[in-house]
Amino acid sequence: MQTDVHTHTAYSDGADLDEMITAAEQAGLTALGLTDHCIVTNDNFGRRAKYDLVETYQQRREDITAARDSTDLRLYDAAEVSYVEGTESRIAAFLETADFAYTIGSVHFAGKYNYTSATQYATTETTQRRAAVERYYDAVVALIESELFDVVGHLDLPERIPALRRHTTRADYDRVARALTESETIPEVNAGRVHRSLGRVHPDPAMLDLFTEYGIQFVLGSDSHTPSELSQRVPILRTLTETRDLSPVVSELRDRHPQSSP
Ligand SMILES: [Zn+2]
Ligand SMILES: [Zn+2]
Repeated sequence: MQTDVHTHTAYSDGADLDEMITAAEQAGLTALGLTDHCIVTNDNFGRRAKYDLVETYQQRREDITAARDSTDLRLYDAAEVSYVEGTESRIAAFLETADFAYTIGSVHFAGKYNYTSATQYATTETTQRRAAVERYYDAVVALIESELFDVVGHLDLPERIPALRRHTTRADYDRVARALTESETIPEVNAGRVHRSLGRVHPDPAMLDLFTEYGIQFVLGSDSHTPSELSQRVPILRTLTETRDLSPVVSELRDRHPQSSP
């Protein structure tokens, strides 16, 4: 594993940029993707102030440029962008202006559902839980088909929420895999919950063979928000990709906008 494509800094909800760089160096990486949260369009849940890379990406770009003088790491000036269906043209216009090295598109919300918090689902019935999960995969497929993003983030995010866990079916993964075969978008193996309640990567390692059968390649993202998360998660991703029986095909990221990088 050379590149961690998914990390956060203090420009969203993560730690200091220099600390993340030091952790990446110590983890033996050669490249680090800085993908702060970027909420281009307001969704039902509003834009959270600390996620406004939309307003601060130029300032962060200066910080990244300065940091390049003191590290051998390749630093990607990138972003994790919340995908909201129906706002594609506004997202496209912003991404055109911001000119990130690459983008991760993530479904965090869809319609009335919030997939980043458990509260909404605690008391719902099984059929409603399944409806919430199905709505998520509708949005993921729309994200992939939009071709707005280089990478699609944490493929089975609803699995993070205990009430929604195991409501994702093999058919959902299959639907996503088929959409990926028709798209330029690459999925990530995301380690954001390997040491917390979910206890595994996204997508479910048991489903990696399904993606491999379709010839789909993955990039690797720790989704770290702190240096210690990065140092704990990179070895997990390394081990996963070195384990023969569930080894996903890992590709290095294509830099679509080389002018943004050294
Ligand atoms: Zn995310
Ligand atoms: Zn993230």
